[in-house]
Amino acid sequence: MDLRCNLCPRRCGAVRGEDISGGFCRSPLLPRIARAAPHYGEEPCIAGRNGTGAVFFTGCNLRCVFCQNIDISRGEGGRTVTVSPVSAFP
Ligand code: SF4
Repeated sequence: MDLRCNLCPRRCGAVRGEDISGGFCRSPLLPRIARAAPHYGEEPCIAGRNGTGAVFFTGCNLRCVFCQNIDISRGEGGRTVTVSPVSAFP
């Protein structure tokens, strides 16, 4: 299944396939996560002693010139994840 994507304000209309990432954000059909772990890089009042729970998605639609995560924001790497719903009630 392909998706012609207009999800964000870029509205680039890319066809996002399972392995195709031709859109501005270079994201394929399913999301990819480059890192999910405690994060200690925020201000101490936010991170505390245990850090924040941070999820870094691969790909970005902004292209900020001062990006400090360019290795993942340009759509390289990461692990594909599914979008299966999780029930709050067993
Ligand atoms: S930049 Fe990415 S999210 Fe935005 S419309 Fe294009 S493919 Fe979709």
